[in-house]
Amino acid sequence: MADTMKALVYRGPEKIGLEDVPMPKIIEPDDAIVKVTTSTICGTDIHIWHGGMPEVEPGRIIGHEFVGEVVEVGPAVRNNKVGDKVAVSCVTQCGECFYCVRGVYSHCTTGSWIFGYMIDGCQAEYVRVPHANLGMFTIPDGLTEEDVLFVGDILSTGYFGSEQGRIEPGDTVAVMGGGPVGMCAMTTARLWGPAEIIAVDINQERLDFAVKNGIADVGINPQKVGNVGDAIRERTGGRGADVTIEANGFKPTFDMAVDSVRPGGTISLIGVFEKPQELAMNTLWIKNIRISMGLVNANRIPELIKLIQRGKIDTNYLITHRAPLNDILKGYDVFGGKKDGCLKWVVTPYVK
Ligand SMILES: [Zn+2]
Ligand SMILES: [Zn+2]
Repeated sequence: MADTMKALVYRGPEKIGLEDVPMPKIIEPDDAIVKVTTSTICGTDIHIWHGGMPEVEPGRIIGHEFVGEVVEVGPAVRNNKVGDKVAVSCVTQCGECFYCVRGVYSHCTTGSWIFGYMIDGCQAEYVRVPHANLGMFTIPDGLTEEDVLFVGDILSTGYFGSEQGRIEPGDTVAVMGGGPVGMCAMTTARLWGPAEIIAVDINQERLDFAVKNGIADVGINPQKVGNVGDAIRERTGGRGADVTIEANGFKPTFDMAVDSVRPGGTISLIGVFEKPQELAMNTLWIKNIRISMGLVNANRIPELIKLIQRGKIDTNYLITHRAPLNDILKGYDVFGGKKDGCLKWVVTPYVK
């Protein structure tokens, strides 16, 4: 193998570029090196690019949603071997620390954490995968890389949002934000058998798409209905949604998620917020609601792969654009700027 590879490197707010960097190497015995064969640009990458995540140090290779082929394994890697095609969790987990033992994998204390954030990521030709025994999953025969591309991040995040929402059969679930993560929340919310999934977004094109493809049952556009909470209460006997899922990370959708939930219901927050939000506790306390938030644990990847394999979940509808790593800056512009109807920008291998 060559000594260097191409990778997208973060150099500070608004400064990213494709650079020649050293090839990743096995450091710990349970590391694997994976050749990235398909990856994506995620909304979090856009936050990083714009300087919204100052914890990310200049020099970091960005990207955390990918599948690939194992090209090297450390001596302690047991579950995979060289040549395996794998889907990889965006959150690495040791399985042994205080948090991993308690199932809060996203707070694993072994210092690896999330790709393209605290450790180098996947918008590159190769990536080092720490704790490969726990975060790497073989792609079953019969499935394409794109079929399982989102299990490591946005599909797991959508699942986490639905799971934390504690949806029950017959519920009304309102998802604020019809972007890729919002659509993954809608797709996985179906697993709990809600009576109705309501998509809320100001982008009418996305609402129409979600309803047409059965991802949501109905779309509500805040610019058309005026008050979203009232529109949802009108559909639910005056009560509000049993569960609201916020998948956007902005004040208007946050306020809608809080206002639209019924007394005794659950608000599940999975959007990435850059600013503090205010809760009107003086009127809210009496509603007996539950609010859940947090970073995805990504601990249901085997189940999600099985659901995809059996045709219970399909996320291929999210893929609107494909281009090699060479064109990734264009991808940041198009996906980041929500141009050209882009839902997901998929990165294919670098073309020499
Ligand atoms: Zn992401
Ligand atoms: Zn751990």
